[in-house]
Amino acid sequence: MAKGNISVNSENIFPVIKKWLYSDKDIFLRELVSNACDAVTKLKKLAGIGEAKLDDNEQFRIDVIIDKDKKQLIVEDNGIGMTKEEVEKYITDIAFSGAADFLEKYKDKDDKDAQIIGHFGLGFYSAFMPSEKVEIETLSYQEGAKAVKWSCDGGMTYEIDECDKNTRGTKITLTIAEDSKEFLEEYTVRSVLTKYCAFIPVEIYLTVVGKEPEKDKDGNEIQPSPINDTTPLWMKAPKDCTDEEYKQFYTKVFADFNEPLFWIHLNVDFPFNLKGILYFPKINHEFAANEGQIKLFNNQVFVADNVKEVIPEFLMLLKGVIDCPDLPLNVSRSFLQNDGYVKKISAHITKKVADKLKEIYTKQREDYNRYWEDINVFIKYGCMRDEKFYEKVKDFIIYKNLDGKYLTLTEYLDGKDKKDVFYVSDENLQSQYINMFRSQGLDAVILPTMMDTHFISFIEMKEEGVKFKRIDSSVEETSSESTLSDEEKTKLTDEFKAAVGDDKLKIEVQALKNEETPAIILLSEESRRMKEMYRSYGQQFAGMSDMFKDEFTLVLNSENKLIKSIDGMDGENRKTLCEHIYDLAMLCHKPLSPEQMTKFVERSNKLMEKLI
Ligand code: ADP
Repeated sequence: MAKGNISVNSENIFPVIKKWLYSDKDIFLRELVSNACDAVTKLKKLAGIGEAKLDDNEQFRIDVIIDKDKKQLIVEDNGIGMTKEEVEKYITDIAFSGAADFLEKYKDKDDKDAQIIGHFGLGFYSAFMPSEKVEIETLSYQEGAKAVKWSCDGGMTYEIDECDKNTRGTKITLTIAEDSKEFLEEYTVRSVLTKYCAFIPVEIYLTVVGKEPEKDKDGNEIQPSPINDTTPLWMKAPKDCTDEEYKQFYTKVFADFNEPLFWIHLNVDFPFNLKGILYFPKINHEFAANEGQIKLFNNQVFVADNVKEVIPEFLMLLKGVIDCPDLPLNVSRSFLQNDGYVKKISAHITKKVADKLKEIYTKQREDYNRYWEDINVFIKYGCMRDEKFYEKVKDFIIYKNLDGKYLTLTEYLDGKDKKDVFYVSDENLQSQYINMFRSQGLDAVILPTMMDTHFISFIEMKEEGVKFKRIDSSVEETSSESTLSDEEKTKLTDEFKAAVGDDKLKIEVQALKNEETPAIILLSEESRRMKEMYRSYGQQFAGMSDMFKDEFTLVLNSENKLIKSIDGMDGENRKTLCEHIYDLAMLCHKPLSPEQMTKFVERSNKLMEKLI
């Protein structure tokens, strides 16, 4: 037997790294299983070029075995195996010095920067995280190779010797430490494997020593099935995938039983490698949009969810899987953020998404309209986050109008010189204005979400001359000149100021096209937006929002019967009518305060009494 010292020159680093990686200890299993998977892939490659001989019915597999009595967790493969020299070189020297480098590089950094994605690059070394002892038994594929056993109990020395393993491949036996006993539970091991290894390309079987094999209803043993899917849908060519498969994959991976609207299959080999499927989920509600999930894979091994350094932020609203085999994952997050390769991936994904939207918009406009309610938050957010995305999709941004039709900005403006876009933010509250708009033959678009308030400012910035005006912010068309003289107008105005008890009230008298409406309230677009903006900034700006008084104007319709009759009425009735007209106009604009409402109801009751 040979003994040796691990060639790491510092003091014992095991306790340090163990403690440091405590938060996600479970990655050790991903590392060991992906090493096992690499071992199989390497052997297949060698066989492919005639450098290794395989049996005709060679079945490659990885076994994960739990032996609770012996406190062992075993990962075994029938891949390439290692010779004694290779163990000494790759395990003792390289893997260990790799780990030492890793530690050296990151030990002084603060935690945030040292957040290496899932601690890739730690490799074999991570086996020590949950273990008090690690053993490797391995037999190389090379003819005449002798099996070797290497073991190390987490100190600075290891032992290496020949052993009697007679099957090709590598068996790694971890003796699980007292503080990591959860890794002897089937449930834990299965969940870790399902999390990281659900799609790796070699079949994985989980066995629990001593557990009765499952039987079917006839008492026959059920053949164990692998826990993973070795050929996930994203690895297939898009032309070989059916809609049904895409939907099934979506339900399985995201546990979302709503059908996705549509999807994009990314499949690039050159100039970089990128595969994946992005789904546009069905969303019925503005906030649900935040629940997207993009799973990042590296050669079919799961890395992490929503890695914002790789995936453009706005795509996080989607659901999908992305496999980037060439991603340098053994680096810090801040490095990734600035990596050119990552930028290219990001740009490519953005382009593909824009292309897909264009395709649906041009070829299936009906479907596109139908999807709009679900995808608009994503598109609007994307436009605001990414200039290039906006440039690509700007012609496919549509707006729902008062008749429920979907129009582009160009369609809405219909060649008009004045690029005013009227909009409704709350169909119920603004229904009276909608009625007036309709009766005047005017159209407006419906923009009900918080996102829309930001989005319209964005579009105004981008599209010269375009101005969004809420439907209650101005009167678009008046009929001919008012039938009232200036003197009569002033009198009427004073009458209302006195009745409402506010001599600063802004009042205009206009000849509105719709004669049925006695009065409306208009609210200046600018001051309202300013107020909303401060309010959306949150608590510390709440005071600022109060500084902007509601700049509303009471517009009296000189052509309305009631308004016309005010002048001839006696004092008390005149006051009542003015108050009531004012309250009704207010009521169509926003909810009344409790006091205003009480007065309004009292007055209404009195008016009804007159009917008796
Ligand atoms: P990496 O996999 O990133 O190279 P590791 O520390 O995980 O780093 O592994 C070091 C080396 O040990 C591998 O490159 C490989 O040569 C060898 N190795 C590890 N596990 C196995 C295995 N199951 N079968 C064959 N070789 C292995």
